Amino acid sequence: MKVVIIGGGPCGLGAAWRLSELDHNNWQIFEKKNQWGGLSASFQDDDGFIWDVGGHVLFSHYNYFDNVMDTVLGSEDGWVFHEREAWVRMQERFIPYPIQSNIHRLPRDIFWECIKGIIDIHKNGHQSISANSGPANSGPANSGPANFGEWIDLSFGTGLAKWFLRPYNFKVWGFPVDQLDWSWVGDRVATVDLKKVIENYIYNKDSISWGPNSTFRFPLHGGTGAIWNEMARHLPDGHLHLNKKVDSISSKEKFVRLSDGSKQEYDVLLTTMPLTSLVKIADFDPPFDVPPKLKYSCSHIIGIAMTGNPPEHLSTKCWMYFPEDNCPFYRATVFSNYSPNNVPDINNYWSLMCEVSETEVKLVNPDTVVEDVIQGMINTGLIENKNCIHHTWYHVEKKGYPTPCLKRNLNIFPLHDHLMNHGIYSRGRFGSWRYEVGNMDHSFMQGVEFVNHIFFKKEELTVWKPGVVNNN
Ligand SMILES: Cc1cc2nc3c(=O)[nH]c(=O)nc-3n(C[C@H](O)[C@H](O)[C@H](O)COP(=O)(O)OP(=O)(O)OC[C@H]3O[C@@H](n4cnc5c(N)ncnc54)[C@H](O)[C@@H]3O)c2cc1C
Repeated sequence: MKVVIIGGGPCGLGAAWRLSELDHNNWQIFEKKNQWGGLSASFQDDDGFIWDVGGHVLFSHYNYFDNVMDTVLGSEDGWVFHEREAWVRMQERFIPYPIQSNIHRLPRDIFWECIKGIIDIHKNGHQSISANSGPANSGPANSGPANFGEWIDLSFGTGLAKWFLRPYNFKVWGFPVDQLDWSWVGDRVATVDLKKVIENYIYNKDSISWGPNSTFRFPLHGGTGAIWNEMARHLPDGHLHLNKKVDSISSKEKFVRLSDGSKQEYDVLLTTMPLTSLVKIADFDPPFDVPPKLKYSCSHIIGIAMTGNPPEHLSTKCWMYFPEDNCPFYRATVFSNYSPNNVPDINNYWSLMCEVSETEVKLVNPDTVVEDVIQGMINTGLIENKNCIHHTWYHVEKKGYPTPCLKRNLNIFPLHDHLMNHGIYSRGRFGSWRYEVGNMDHSFMQGVEFVNHIFFKKEELTVWKPGVVNNN
């Protein structure tokens, strides 16, 4: 069985890893860029600073993935291990994440508004709304909240919704929350626990350890991209090709055409390019020749290289969330805290990295965004002034987040069925277009599970049962 893989990000490399593990020799992987890792690649700028495409936090739902990470970079020496220190910056203060447990840190009036909202949802029969039973997993919902905005209001109450969840999520997704589905939430959003909120208020304590990424690891050298470069280095020679773009796919004759004109035949094709691009370069019959109406957001990544040492209030923080409109970014990462080697000399430099989303309804001016971010950093108290800025780094990914918009699955499921009938598996973050399984571990495992499926008929749990894997 000849397997051709399009794309050398975590998904494509996951498939390659598993094929190699099975000693299957008949496969090739083609990556259009000059490095491995896709959205999880890293970049070293001219001054020796390392940048990710937004701070990548490596955590996992799979033992298999953890073991591969140990093999690739070693179980200890190749990593920096972190306990997450995540914060929300609002109302001119830092509040420990998840904010829904620590609202006693808000100004008194806002705290009371949030509490009233939580009491109301309890009075109205608040119950935990299972994210895994929602429309994104099971087709159109006939019960439960109609959209993510409604889910927020019903799950957190109107106070928290107004002060944090609605504005913050608009900044992240770039679409009004009422246009989004809610079933991607899974293990990604902490629910609210009224008892805990009151306990934290009475005893003046914080809850900080919620969630799957409460501990995480980061490569000691080379940023997140080091994982994928090292993985490619571990794979056998003769199968891996950089700077090779696939220009067209003949689904009928089962071959792909590369940009150098050469042709590669396949029995099974794994493609990790965006589903919408795949449809454009393949020879599908109607109605599958039309790219599905899927939404996405563009990610603007702004790295700020700083001289000196981080101020005391940032010296141990990992990342911070920003719901307010006094800055364009929704998240900032103190990237030099992830590894001292992310800067050329940790005694004299440090670095911050900010993420700004853009969509058709939330535009960003690329000519001013770096300056706007710097002003936002001053407005939010991250830095005092521009004097300590050494230089900036600016990177744009046109497709950064696959938006879990309403009716998404009605668009993608029939297309996936059609593709698989033609021996084509579209997997990974934008290949499957399922944000809820769009992290590095998920994407890598989608590649692994694709191989297990074609050879052993095993179910591809990650892509088809997100709720199951995310509960691991
Ligand atoms: C801002 C941001 C922050 C993130 N933070 C995290 C995080 O903290 N933790 C986490 O786990 N994940 C994070 N992610 C997600 C992570 O980047 C993805 O999970 C992962 O990179 C997806 O892997 P993939 O292989 O599915 O797709 P991609 O990484 O998109 O790789 C697809 C590859 O296909 C190649 N390709 C496309 N078209 C062609 C063609 N025609 N021919 C040849 N090659 C082609 C592309 O060049 C690319 O290299 C983040 C993503 C973003 C954008």
